[in-house]
Amino acid sequence: MGERTVPHDGSPTERPRVDALVIGGGPAGLSAALNLGRARESVLVVDAGRPRNSATLRSHGFLTRDGISPLELRKLARTELEAYPAVRVIERALVSSLVQVVDASGGMRFRAALDSRRPGAPTTVAARSVLVATGLRETLPAIPSLRAFYGMTLFSCAACDGWELRDRPLALIGETADLAERAMLIARWTDDLTVFTNRAPVIDVTEEAALAARGIRVERRLIEELEGHRGAVTAVRLADGDRIPIGGGFVRPRWHPSLEFLDALEPATDADGNLVTDGSGRTSVPGLYAAGDAATPGPQQLIVAAGAGARVAAVLTHDVLGVTTAH
Ligand SMILES: Cc1cc2nc3c(=O)[nH]c(=O)nc-3n(C[C@H](O)[C@H](O)[C@H](O)COP(=O)(O)OP(=O)(O)OC[C@H]3O[C@@H](n4cnc5c(N)ncnc54)[C@H](O)[C@@H]3O)c2cc1C
Repeated sequence: MGERTVPHDGSPTERPRVDALVIGGGPAGLSAALNLGRARESVLVVDAGRPRNSATLRSHGFLTRDGISPLELRKLARTELEAYPAVRVIERALVSSLVQVVDASGGMRFRAALDSRRPGAPTTVAARSVLVATGLRETLPAIPSLRAFYGMTLFSCAACDGWELRDRPLALIGETADLAERAMLIARWTDDLTVFTNRAPVIDVTEEAALAARGIRVERRLIEELEGHRGAVTAVRLADGDRIPIGGGFVRPRWHPSLEFLDALEPATDADGNLVTDGSGRTSVPGLYAAGDAATPGPQQLIVAAGAGARVAAVLTHDVLGVTTAH
């Protein structure tokens, strides 16, 4: 394999053929693209440009980049990719479907349909291998002004933002069965924690007793609204008018993988709809890989996603050659 630029025929509906199509340009996808480019693969990254952490101004826990803005992190990554002529990125474009086709030489290829508003962007792309790095979508509890505080003083990832909220009176708001466990985790950062279930029956009496033993209160009443100003939450107001003062907190969103475009391939998914991988990023469909938040659960962090992207890039490169050596 020589060093190649992505070939295309120059027409508005050109169909580039690439070694690897990377769907999603977050840390997982961009890190994979960097390592694939360095391995002399031709790569096309297609990115809709809606990262999960777009609500926040600062990202934490990424070694050498602790506190960086999410946009800046992506910008740095994109700049690094520019050194590799065989790596191309199409922004503000969506992969709307992915199928497998038999090519002229009888081999299997993937064909992706692209939905882009950019003039001249290709509408399809053919690829030997595909990496899904499309992250997750979030649905927050239905509290009117929650979005105004999300990413500012209310967060979802304790490892990412617990340090900044340490020693404040905190809330944990959620309606899922893992709420008591998350409360135990968040109590690492505060001795003043109230768990709000918003009337969802998700914490049983045994869990409540265990939380009480750690000094964590459970509040089961309906939440009416959050109070605060300019992103700084100050209280949870309950439907009966009571106010519980807080200085920040965490929300447990419901997470949904963005995988509708894979329907035709029917890859194996778990009960929550996440792609099942073999631990090295291989899905049940040969040639189709996944990394980052889109792959089966684990810590949802930028550096973990970037590491997973790098790992899958190596696995993919080895699979193509049929070699199993570590490096
Ligand atoms: C409020 C908030 C704050 C956070 N703070 C931190 C933090 O401080 N530190 C930290 O480590 N982590 C943080 N995270 C978690 C972090 O954002 C994720 O773990 C990380 O972004 C996952 O990277 P990814 O590459 O898997 O997905 P993403 O970064 O979500 O990127 C996926 C990309 O794929 C695109 N996409 C989706 N579908 C398609 C499609 N069909 N075609 C083309 N493109 C598509 C999306 O638009 C998006 O650009 C935070 C998350 C949230 C919600």
